[in-house]
Amino acid sequence: MRISNFIGGEWASTAEYISSVNPSTGEPYLEVPRSGENEVAAAVQAAKSAFPAWRSLRAEERADILDRIADGIDARLSEFAQMESDDQGKPVSLATSLDIPRAALNFRFFAGAIRHELSHAAPIDARTFSYVRREPIGVAGLISPWNLPLYLLTWKIAPALAYGNTCVAKPSEWTSGTAWLLAKVMKEAGLPAGVCNLVFGYGHEAGQALVEHEDVPLISFTGGTVTGRKIAETAAPRLKKLSLELGGKNPTIVFKDALEMFSVQELAKNVARSAFLNQGEICLCGSRLYVEETFYDEFSEALVREVKALTVGDPRDASSFMGPLVSSEHLAKVSSYIQHAKDTGLKILCGGERPTALPSSTGRDLSKGYFVQPTIVADVPESSRLQKEEVFGPVVTLSRFKSEDEVVALANSTRYGLSASLWTNSLSRAHGMAARLEAGTVWINGWMIRDLRMPFGGVKDSGLGREGQMDSLHFFTEPKTVCVRFGRQEK
Ligand code: NDP
Repeated sequence: MRISNFIGGEWASTAEYISSVNPSTGEPYLEVPRSGENEVAAAVQAAKSAFPAWRSLRAEERADILDRIADGIDARLSEFAQMESDDQGKPVSLATSLDIPRAALNFRFFAGAIRHELSHAAPIDARTFSYVRREPIGVAGLISPWNLPLYLLTWKIAPALAYGNTCVAKPSEWTSGTAWLLAKVMKEAGLPAGVCNLVFGYGHEAGQALVEHEDVPLISFTGGTVTGRKIAETAAPRLKKLSLELGGKNPTIVFKDALEMFSVQELAKNVARSAFLNQGEICLCGSRLYVEETFYDEFSEALVREVKALTVGDPRDASSFMGPLVSSEHLAKVSSYIQHAKDTGLKILCGGERPTALPSSTGRDLSKGYFVQPTIVADVPESSRLQKEEVFGPVVTLSRFKSEDEVVALANSTRYGLSASLWTNSLSRAHGMAARLEAGTVWINGWMIRDLRMPFGGVKDSGLGREGQMDSLHFFTEPKTVCVRFGRQEK
């Protein structure tokens, strides 16, 4: 199947196409436009032309259209979920329960937010007051990664449009399918032509051209730290507004007193899920597991049992917890970390291989798919690449700690600071540690519980800026202070 760019409300072809592979079978599956400067220029021009009318709509009018887009996503839930799975490798069940509903929620959430938004005013004296107008900025450049394709793309498109901007979005060329389906939904929902444009292609071509374009004053990017740094280097001299949501190497910390609330098996189940959901390809996955020493043996035994029971298999099967990794390149990267563990004599508690027998009720040949077993490596030296670098796959480390001070220091010892999760029944410990952990989000006795009103983002090399209700408002608008004096000033 061949997909097209979506520019000015129309489908637009390109001279060249990129072959995108279904990671379950290793077979070519989608032909994705290979866009460059010309396509990006056309898309930016369309967005620029659509901006004056779109920004002039009342908030309720924009909100109604966003709600219709959300309804359109819901109506095509199974089509979206199937495509997300075929593109990315994630189980269809996960796309159905998490990715696609969240994409619809992103539109509904910001539709609700703009319906209820207030601006502030400050009376100065009886005849003078100031008020603030929050104004859209113009054409937003939105660049998203392959791990949660529609979920993250719509987390940018929805606030950009809600607050009155128009946009040009560039998804990852590995996972462009659902963005193309979204364009159909946006057309059906009556989104005016040019308000949202999609340009597919490589990051170093289409993505780079978008960041460089002089008529794109703001860039919202989610992806790896190396790419984020490059984008910052391009955007900074052009004085563009920039939001960077980057990588993570997140600690999961388990104290023995968590047993006062959970059984060891429940704890192991939760930790396994937070480590391996979506094949470990979520920036928030806990990839460094620290367990209190007095509880280590009992917990590690339960964890290994739990992880060995996770089904790696056909993402179309409801019983599969993990599908394949997204691409052969990513498989090579993840495998290199497993090989490093073997080469340096580290203890692999489970996994460490590619599965040989893959369950599939569909009868598909999965032998060329990019599957890897969920892998736990124990007692890894803190200096190891495995403790410091983002693997972004189903490979985690398991270590022990003796005290709060020690584990805080270990947790904070990477250059990343996206999230942390903490399992304990002690209220004072929970809040004390939440204050000391270097992370944009700290979960206590949970993981990936998202409230879209809350700020989301990372510290250190995990990013710059925040997204979320007020944070997205601040990013996608500029405040203008208007000071009014009516009548002549009394002497
Ligand atoms: P990349 O940084 O490789 O790519 C992200 C996007 O940027 C892709 O669309 C990519 O296109 C594009 N891109 C690449 N080079 C450029 C460039 N020079 N200019 C403009 N755009 C460019 O990340 P991945 O797609 O590999 O995603 C995985 C990473 O994303 C992980 O590090 C993960 O932690 C992070 N992430 C962070 C999240 C957060 O909220 N903090 C959430 C999810 C993921 P192309 O595909 O062609 O390379």
